[in-house]
Amino acid sequence: MTIIALIHDTEVSRLVLSKLVLVSDEIPFWKKEFPSLDISSNGHVNVPKDSDLMHIAHVTAEMAPIAKVGGLGDVVTGLARACLTRGHKVDVFLPFYECINKQQINDLTLVVTYDSFHDENWIPVNMYRGVVSGIPVMFVEPTNHFFKGQNVYGGSYDELEAYLFFSRACLEWMQVTGTQPDIIHVHEWQTGGLPLLYWDMYHYLCLKKPRIVLTIHNMEHYGECRKEQLSKCGLDGSTYATEEKAVDDRTIGHNPERLSLLKGGIVYSNSVVTVSPTYLKETLCSGWLAGTLIRHRDKYFGVLNGIDTTIWNPATDVFLPAKFDASNIEGKKICKLHVQKGLGLASEGLEQGPDRVPLVVCITRLVAQKGLHLITNAIKYVEELGGQLVVLGKASDARVEREFEGLAKLHNQGSSVRILLMYSEELSHMLYAAADMVLVPSIYEPCGLAQMIGMRYGAIPVVRKTGGLADTVFDMDDHSQPELANGFVFEGIDEGSLNNSLDRAFSYYQQKADEWGGIVKKVMQTDNSWNNTAGKYIDIYNSVRVKEY
Ligand code: ADP
Repeated sequence: MTIIALIHDTEVSRLVLSKLVLVSDEIPFWKKEFPSLDISSNGHVNVPKDSDLMHIAHVTAEMAPIAKVGGLGDVVTGLARACLTRGHKVDVFLPFYECINKQQINDLTLVVTYDSFHDENWIPVNMYRGVVSGIPVMFVEPTNHFFKGQNVYGGSYDELEAYLFFSRACLEWMQVTGTQPDIIHVHEWQTGGLPLLYWDMYHYLCLKKPRIVLTIHNMEHYGECRKEQLSKCGLDGSTYATEEKAVDDRTIGHNPERLSLLKGGIVYSNSVVTVSPTYLKETLCSGWLAGTLIRHRDKYFGVLNGIDTTIWNPATDVFLPAKFDASNIEGKKICKLHVQKGLGLASEGLEQGPDRVPLVVCITRLVAQKGLHLITNAIKYVEELGGQLVVLGKASDARVEREFEGLAKLHNQGSSVRILLMYSEELSHMLYAAADMVLVPSIYEPCGLAQMIGMRYGAIPVVRKTGGLADTVFDMDDHSQPELANGFVFEGIDEGSLNNSLDRAFSYYQQKADEWGGIVKKVMQTDNSWNNTAGKYIDIYNSVRVKEY
């Protein structure tokens, strides 16, 4: 069989890929037509309704699956669904990115065209309503060049100005239509300007009821903003350029000083949440926002993310060739074989038992935070250990992309490693289902969803002990808390620490098959769903509902 050196999601490589995949046409095996997701199979049937119901409006740059780049998109969809299930009214406000596939939206309707402010002008905005994966979504479409392009991020427009415009357009719409949610839940720096706009203009004018909650999913991005940029959305940039408001402390004394939308969001939200208790502690101890977070400690909370078990359910997942659950794991073997054959990895077939060679997957954005040198090391080390590794990753940086292209050229020719440099929702589902282990060697990780999704699909996590990984994965050899043990954990950022965990994981897999089977069952039964954690958000929403700011 001809094995290509590099797998890329392009037309040309698709043709070459057809030699690699076991389908009769030229479409890669993860690209065939799949039935649409059945959202009635959500497993939420036993969730009781809350007694005191709210209207919650999420204002976000991402939403799974239509505009997802990483975990932010998953979190918005999962939390929105969990709150809907508990009886609340939920709307998600999302930019109507040009790249959104409209076929994934049900009942798409243009509701109204109205104006919102940018750079001394009122720009017409089309507000659409639709339903995505069972969740009501308001699509905000500016009629200028904002949000045009083939990707969610990185279009040829000023992103900061576009998200400020989006934030104001959402508030403007609420004002125009008299909509008064109880909670406006903003996410990340992109919508960090909304709380400033709200208290500055909209609360005073008309929107009396809403309170603002900000979730910080990753403290790495601050939304650096010049005063003039902030002024373009109608605020007076200079007013906010003080240490206790939105000035980026690192720029104090520099000319010009800058602002940070994330810092402004922290200061002006009624509550601030980050995505795991350990990351909360880490962010209070280091990073330039630590001082601001300490000053606002009384309204800062760490709530562990959950996963959306409607989308991530191996018993109903439309992308899998065979379904399975903790009580019947047979389908997982078929998924492993399907992926091995599809990608041209060595496979021993069902008769011999595909279990002898462990398959490790690493599904990630290829950025420094994710431990690139450790991923590179794992590519070599898993091969040395006689295992198989599939990396599904997308790099936004050209240098990183070139480095991984080089690794792909080197390793994809054998039968034990595949490096796939692309984003594929479908393939990610198949890989989690096929995997024996899921690798998450992050340098820091606010929460991390890959380890939780992996567990739900029976893949044992091998992770670095940081942030949310430390809150969700507990080492098999830590005898102080055997009841929690569910994976392999290392602390160092050096290759030796990772190798040691892989050694231990491989030896469990190969020498203690029964114990391994037990642990697979255990992780599949662990409830990391939003059902488990959405209640903490509801408590926070309830506590801020009555707060005047
Ligand atoms: P982050 O938000 O930092 O990207 P998380 O672990 O919180 O990391 O969430 C990552 C989400 O994005 C998971 O759902 C993961 O499966 C998905 N993902 C990451 N990279 C890819 C990729 N190349 N193709 C498909 N899904 C991906």
